[in-house]
Amino acid sequence: MSNEREVDLVVVGTGPGGEALASGAAKAGLEVVAVEKHLVGGECPYYGCIPSKMMVRAGDALAEARRAGTLAGDVEVVASWAPVARRISEEATSGWDDAAAVQRLEDAGAALARGEGRLDGPRRVVVTPRGGGEPTTYVARRGVVLNPGTRPSAPPVPGLEGTPYWTNRDAVQVTSLPSTLVVLGGGPIGCEMAQAFARFGVRVTIVQHGDRLLPQDEPEAAAVLERTLLDEGVRVLTEVEATSVAYADGSFTVGLDEGDDLVAEKLLVAAGRTPNLDSLGLESVGLDPSARTIEVDDRLRAAGVEGLWVIGDVTGKGAFTHVSMYQSGIALADVLADGPGDGSEDGSGDRGPAARYHALPHTTFTDPEVAGVGLTEQQARDAGLDVRVGSTPLEQSSRGFTHGPGATGLVKVVEDASRGVLVGASVVGPLGGEIIGLLNLAVHAEVPVATLRTMIYAYPTFHRAIETALAELG
Ligand SMILES: Cc1cc2nc3c(=O)[nH]c(=O)nc-3n(C[C@H](O)[C@H](O)[C@H](O)COP(=O)(O)OP(=O)(O)OC[C@H]3O[C@@H](n4cnc5c(N)ncnc54)[C@H](O)[C@@H]3O)c2cc1C
Repeated sequence: MSNEREVDLVVVGTGPGGEALASGAAKAGLEVVAVEKHLVGGECPYYGCIPSKMMVRAGDALAEARRAGTLAGDVEVVASWAPVARRISEEATSGWDDAAAVQRLEDAGAALARGEGRLDGPRRVVVTPRGGGEPTTYVARRGVVLNPGTRPSAPPVPGLEGTPYWTNRDAVQVTSLPSTLVVLGGGPIGCEMAQAFARFGVRVTIVQHGDRLLPQDEPEAAAVLERTLLDEGVRVLTEVEATSVAYADGSFTVGLDEGDDLVAEKLLVAAGRTPNLDSLGLESVGLDPSARTIEVDDRLRAAGVEGLWVIGDVTGKGAFTHVSMYQSGIALADVLADGPGDGSEDGSGDRGPAARYHALPHTTFTDPEVAGVGLTEQQARDAGLDVRVGSTPLEQSSRGFTHGPGATGLVKVVEDASRGVLVGASVVGPLGGEIIGLLNLAVHAEVPVATLRTMIYAYPTFHRAIETALAELG
């Protein structure tokens, strides 16, 4: 027997967007139940962005200290992982405990149902409590929001299953380092972690089946990163497939389709993500549970299903916390506008702006950081635009010159010449993720290139290289 309860809104999965939406809806006066089977806040604070950036920051500190020799005299560097493990455990995750996030949610007025949520037809969610017990069916007057996120994928490499390989979830919890590590996957997560561990003395090999690292970025941006990793002693194997994995006596053997087997103490699998859509009851509302994404409109409403909004990684618009949060705001406005909770008398409240992704930014927090916004040159050409590109190496900027070691990178801009606006840009360099902000604004607001050229760029900043790249547009 299942208990049945009526509420206004059910949010299944509390990633960054789901948590914010549940809180926002509750603050607006809706009766909200947030369903979470693991930790309120999702992947980002406990296993993703925050702990990984603490690892990256620690590696950067070591790299900077090692650069001091050329700039300021000798510094003795004795790397220790203990402060990294402590910061992640104590400062970032409170020992992987979500009590503070739960408190935030409850202070906002939402109720937490700790358990696994599953759709059971339109506007109905069955929650099976964590640790067993009677399921409860929530009937949602306003509707249901799905924010289930993703989990690490295990590629179908023979022998991998059953070995004690790491995913990002293990890697952020390590308290002592291996001497050798193979990283399967040369995307953002693989590259960030490979560099961070390598800077602590771990001998790291990246195995990437594609022809380059960071396949979503400009090829020249990825090339800068690959050169840096090689310089730092990371082995980078591209166009190489892992064909087998074996584990015995505390070490992994990874067979490759080309070259000798790799032997390492640990294996980190960072080879993509699996959407948590398979056990969500999607079939009960006519959606495909085996799909990788759920199609949504520009208000995050699931195509063809009344009263169902979907936000976060599973929308396929970009697997980033800022996308989850952005979509959360738009979906919340739509949920509230769908009834009396919007503050207006007739429930015809302002839905606010619709979602647009033309200026979606991303940063891989390696050193140098690899940041991008909008379209790459190839994507712009594939879209049939009248493309002009300009680029400049960061080393040749005045700031690059004064900065010295570590100032490697580039700025590249992609213009739709027929409209005279930027449709994409990349920045590789120290704080590339900050420098891209200026270009993010330009792409977002479609600021004419002619206007960008009249701007005064402070001397000698890294962002002044943008002026040079714009000049290269011709
Ligand atoms: C190592 C790593 C580093 C990253 N670094 C960055 C970064 O620097 N910047 C950035 O923008 N992004 C980064 N990301 C991506 C970022 O973590 C995600 O995009 C972000 O968490 C948003 O995901 P989401 O909102 O879709 O849901 P998630 O954060 O995945 O959360 C989904 C939640 O739903 C719960 N859930 C799932 N199914 C159910 C169910 N049936 N019932 C109840 N609960 C359920 C899960 O337990 C989880 O808590 C990183 C990811 C990783 C793995």
